Amino acid sequence: MQDHSINAKGLTVTDQQATVQRYHEVQANIAMAAHDADREPADICLVAVSKTFDAPDILPLLEAGHRVFGENRVQESQKKWPDLKARFPDVELHLIGPLQSNKSREALALFDVIETLDRESVIRAIAKDWPALEKKPRLLVQFNTGAEPQKAGVLPQELPDILALAAELGLTISGLMCIPPVDQPPSPHFAVLARLAKTHGLTHLSMGMSADYAEAIQLGADYVRVGSAIFGHR
Ligand SMILES: *Cc1c(COP(=O)(O)O)cnc(C)c1O
Repeated sequence: MQDHSINAKGLTVTDQQATVQRYHEVQANIAMAAHDADREPADICLVAVSKTFDAPDILPLLEAGHRVFGENRVQESQKKWPDLKARFPDVELHLIGPLQSNKSREALALFDVIETLDRESVIRAIAKDWPALEKKPRLLVQFNTGAEPQKAGVLPQELPDILALAAELGLTISGLMCIPPVDQPPSPHFAVLARLAKTHGLTHLSMGMSADYAEAIQLGADYVRVGSAIFGHR
């Protein structure tokens, strides 16, 4: 019998090997979806969403060579990522959860990509700290494709003003991100996001999660945010 060490989340060493195996399967699926869409697999970046998982669960992926990760809470990320980034300095960390204006300085210091700019106050807070930053994160606007009132994200009618404000304050917005409504087929929402990005001359499209990243790639995603298909249930 193998002796399994158990980490904080109760995962065993074999669970961690399974994580790496699922990761390779997701990468293979991404390559297939890219191929089907006549796209280069290398143009699609897998953002491994490690929220709720601790360093021991993330390490195997880092050791397997993966470098791009997504987190949805600033505070949780501050607990686990500074140490991991010290060990793997080329990590690219994405913030994919809501950003509060009073947390923007911390977020700017830790994250390499902030995908969730979703309102004027956050854009103003970031713009205030922007000139003093040595390392300037890439910025995406979160778009509420379903116009769901309870959900974060810029509403369709607000997008031109938000982009204009960011430009006026000296911020470069390089893409759009969306989380489609859970009870609807995602593809029409992905298509809307792709069309808007094109209209506004924005390069990056962050869309697609564990259940629908293949469809997102078909419609032009270059960041796919995949959590449970790699790390398992949260
Ligand atoms: C948690 C999360 C994901 C990953 O979801 P899975 O279904 O586990 O792949 C992607 N995007 C955002 C914004 C998330 O919060």
